[in-house]
Amino acid sequence: MLYQRSSQLFAEAEKVIPGGVNSPVRAFKAVGGTPIFVKSAKGAYLYDEDGNRLIDYINSWGPMVLGHAFEPVVESVISRAKLGTSYGMPTALETEIAALAVAMVPNIDKIRFVNSGTEACMSAVRLARGFTKKDKIIKFAGCYHGHSDSFLIQAGSGAVTFGTPNSPGVTAGTAKDTLLARYNDLENVTQLIEANKNEIAAIIIEPVAGNMGCIPPKEGFLEGLRKLCSANDILLIFDEVMTGFRLAKGGVQELYNIKADIVCFGKVIGGGLPVGAFAARSAIMNYLAPIGPVYQAGTLSGNPLAMAAGLAMLQALNTDAAVFQRLEDKTAYLENGIRKVLTKNKVTFTINRVGSMISVHFDESPVVDFQSAAKGDNETFKKFFHGLLNEGIYIAPSAYETWFITDALTYEDLDFTIQAIDKVSKTF
Ligand code: PLP
Repeated sequence: MLYQRSSQLFAEAEKVIPGGVNSPVRAFKAVGGTPIFVKSAKGAYLYDEDGNRLIDYINSWGPMVLGHAFEPVVESVISRAKLGTSYGMPTALETEIAALAVAMVPNIDKIRFVNSGTEACMSAVRLARGFTKKDKIIKFAGCYHGHSDSFLIQAGSGAVTFGTPNSPGVTAGTAKDTLLARYNDLENVTQLIEANKNEIAAIIIEPVAGNMGCIPPKEGFLEGLRKLCSANDILLIFDEVMTGFRLAKGGVQELYNIKADIVCFGKVIGGGLPVGAFAARSAIMNYLAPIGPVYQAGTLSGNPLAMAAGLAMLQALNTDAAVFQRLEDKTAYLENGIRKVLTKNKVTFTINRVGSMISVHFDESPVVDFQSAAKGDNETFKKFFHGLLNEGIYIAPSAYETWFITDALTYEDLDFTIQAIDKVSKTF
């Protein structure tokens, strides 16, 4: 495939945008080469500036669970835009999407909308600190909760890809309040709690991790965290920015039947527009301004276009009862196909999957935490990435990312992908 125009566009972008991109992982640094510039997208496909069609396994890093340019979302945004694009005043639409989200997700009474997943997690932690009157938080190595200072301590995703898990600019004062634990290691969390008695406000976790590839929680791990939190007056924050409205209507809380104290959302909840949200029981949410003392605000929060897109998306997911099963079936089909061809071609690999989140690691030992995720063979991953790209298949340009499957994919697309993986992995 030719990427001539994309390369030219990247060169122009580099002159006026740092690194040519507005979010680092897009720059292809981890895999080499130059990024692809998108012209349009529909359903399961991306169309780039050179006229190539790519099957998309990233889907804007998760939001396009029903495919690109999903008609109900597009129509809602167009009709809403004609009524004005922002007011900085309340709209009935905000209550409508809030009520629907509260009905779909277990264990929440109220939800506050923000503009990104970063904002959602950052605000959730401030709320937890204000509510518990404690300062420290526990996060897990390899989990990414956005680029707010407190979270850039061994974060996954792009922060790992670039080898700078601790970003310059994060002060020592901020870093000291973020304690690091190993994913899937309850003993480690217990020790941290013991060593910081009555100082920990919250444990924040991706309840199915997606930013060091996909890593499922081991059996009993989330239940153990729940018990530890309840016993120590610590709030359990589920960062469901990736998993919310994707793994089940009610996210991981529903999937594994575990209650979090605060839940963060992003991605799917905005239907592809910039939206995040955080939610909890009233007792906690009422601690927020304007009724409570914890300040949190946003000129564009609850923006009518964003709310219209999110509402159309949630309505579609709420009324199509079979969608999550279809996603499971398609992703399981893909997983089985990849397993078969990689085994046949004698490739060393591990595949992790929960529902429509899946990742392929080029290492044979189980990938259960950041340390084991980091052992994957990056040279093989690069060949895999570029080989697939050449076949018209777009996966994330980093070994630390999860693939997000869309319901718009057909079984023909999946077969084509499996055949391409067969062809590419023969050359490893
Ligand atoms: N939390 C998780 C689990 C994420 O995966 C991300 C982004 O990928 C974020 C938070 C941050 O969201 P955003 O990029 O919308 O700020």
